[in-house]
Amino acid sequence: MADVTCIRCGQTRAGLDRAPYPDAMGREIAEKICGSCWEECKRMQVMVINEYRLDLSDTRAQEILEKSIRDFLGIESE
Ligand SMILES: [Zn+2]
Repeated sequence: MADVTCIRCGQTRAGLDRAPYPDAMGREIAEKICGSCWEECKRMQVMVINEYRLDLSDTRAQEILEKSIRDFLGIESE
């Protein structure tokens, strides 16, 4: 696992083993986010899913979650 300079915390440390999603956002996370911020992001996702009662089989719910991930990590929208 290579070190990344994380755009969220500014530290250079161990990144992710692999992209968490098979899309452009997943690749961006793997390139720009450290493993520790990603762990925080996963906990945030659980809270968002519970708070908004997201049903992730629903496209709209997936969009809400994806936006919250981008906002949390500071990744630009495409
Ligand atoms: Zn970080």
